[in-house]
Amino acid sequence: MSPNTSTEIRDVIIVGSGPAGYTAAVYAARADLKPLVFEGSITAGGALMNTTEVENFPGFTDGIMGPELMENMRAQAERFGAELVVEDIAAMDLTGPVKTVTDGEGKIYSARTVILATGSAYRKLGIADEDRLSGHGVSWCATCDGFFFRGKDIAVVGGGDSAMEEATFLSRFANSVTVIHRRDHLRASKIMAARAENDPKISFAWNSAVTALHGEKSLESVSLRDTVTGEDRTLEIQGLFIAIGHDPRSELIQGQVDTDAEGYVLTEGKSTRTNLVGVFACGDLVDHTYRQAITAAGSGCAAALDAERYLADLH
Ligand code: FAD
Repeated sequence: MSPNTSTEIRDVIIVGSGPAGYTAAVYAARADLKPLVFEGSITAGGALMNTTEVENFPGFTDGIMGPELMENMRAQAERFGAELVVEDIAAMDLTGPVKTVTDGEGKIYSARTVILATGSAYRKLGIADEDRLSGHGVSWCATCDGFFFRGKDIAVVGGGDSAMEEATFLSRFANSVTVIHRRDHLRASKIMAARAENDPKISFAWNSAVTALHGEKSLESVSLRDTVTGEDRTLEIQGLFIAIGHDPRSELIQGQVDTDAEGYVLTEGKSTRTNLVGVFACGDLVDHTYRQAITAAGSGCAAALDAERYLADLH
């Protein structure tokens, strides 16, 4: 055996440290399964590390800052004995009864169960100031942040169903919503498109791409370029919601764990069981629909309970 291979076979390895991974860790640790959690190196703590105030996670009357919420979840998992490692997993072999994961330095760890909680990455526009203004007018989640934009002029980038859903939802709060789309027609389904087109607060900036974001402390306006004529113009808005898609982080398990066409891991019925025995998946990695911290945490809980029951049946 190579010195890089740990001889210990653990009960549970968790890959991912967002609300799903940490909640799974709390439950697995309290079940005395001594989970080993790979948190990831750059993105430890998950998507909420990139946001400011979280107002919809139950239990925090006055809201809580995203990074503080994640630090609390981390500490809670640690308190019950979860072992947390700030490392990326670079490879996984999940097919046999004993699964192995390999970290970025080539060290191999084994476990009878693996909980996948690697989340999904929202697509960015890839322009300057996008990260700086994230949480300060630039957002990827209307459900999370719509409330902050009461009476404001805002825009949604995208032309698919998610963009139409975000725009329609935001029109409840905003003074006006401009849908910015690169083409002259929508990709969204007819019913979603019609709902947005018939909404008196929603207008459309066709053939338009966002080329720059402006604002010192928070977003004040964006530059738009006409994709046909090349003409530039400025749109004064206080909020920009980017709805151009998400990519589930499932590339390491492709070919082993079943996913749908978009790469989301498929689970059996209401459970977190994947097609491989002893492998469970939770959070945004499996979720097209809700993508909230609380739903991710809920499915992390379910994954730990499913793993616990699977292990109990092995003995
Ligand atoms: P994530 O939080 O994405 O965590 C995934 C984890 O997996 C990360 O820690 C990453 O480091 C780790 N990982 C990935 N690959 C590897 C690997 N190979 N090895 C080791 N680790 C790996 N939801 C709300 O309910 N309220 C809000 O106010 C809210 N605001 C948001 C603001 C922003 C800007 C964004 C982007 C999202 C927001 N959301 C909000 C949504 C919420 O953050 C997500 O639904 C939730 O974080 C998903 O949790 P998760 O555990 O599935 O994944």
